[in-house]
Amino acid sequence: MAVPFLSPGQTNKAVPRMKRRLVRELLALGFESIAHQIAVRTTTYGPDAVEGVRKVQEAKHIHVDGFVGKDTWGALGVHEPVTNPTPVMLPGDSFHGGEVIVEPGANKPGNPITKMTLDYVAKMAGIVGKPIKITTGTNHNKFTVNGNVSDHFSGHAADIGMFANGGVDDSPVGDRIMAACCVLAGDSKQGARDKARTGGLFSFTHGNQRIQCIWKTNQGGNHHNHVHVGVRPA
Ligand SMILES: [Zn+2]
Repeated sequence: MAVPFLSPGQTNKAVPRMKRRLVRELLALGFESIAHQIAVRTTTYGPDAVEGVRKVQEAKHIHVDGFVGKDTWGALGVHEPVTNPTPVMLPGDSFHGGEVIVEPGANKPGNPITKMTLDYVAKMAGIVGKPIKITTGTNHNKFTVNGNVSDHFSGHAADIGMFANGGVDDSPVGDRIMAACCVLAGDSKQGARDKARTGGLFSFTHGNQRIQCIWKTNQGGNHHNHVHVGVRPA
């Protein structure tokens, strides 16, 4: 037997089984009110169940992201292989106008990049006019070189490697990707071009998001061979 990787909002025939396990676990942990809100029979992994999963993840000290991968199935007592462990990183998957390709090995198994971040990179690809390959997502140290918890760890960052994207260190390919990152974060076209040319670490708050674009600098690690894009709720 195998179980699928489940993302919030997804519909799958394995969802009722997961929810029955989840309810049992929530009751054991003392989360009665959440447990009783979960519609066990429906095949959609809805908001109540996601909240329940997050409670279990928190209680079991596993990554709190609402996704049901290997660790979370395990926490629910299901120790079967997980199929399609990283649905958001299938090569060729398209998001919005652009195309994002998450390279094999970019993510830790069962720990995908968040949709928020992928959507952002997809829009960047639309601006750049060609698909963007993400070379590192969650398969990254928990901490940055400065000792801060990295956005990568929570699935909110993408590294766009120069080699995989047809560029070299500090190249114009990276400049264009960096400019797209900045312009989508609310910067002017000229401002974005300047930042791409000079390089550096730039943080923006735009919409409800905190966006970080890093390129051609050693701030926060070597960012000459890749553009770092971090997108998380502000
Ligand atoms: Zn990075």
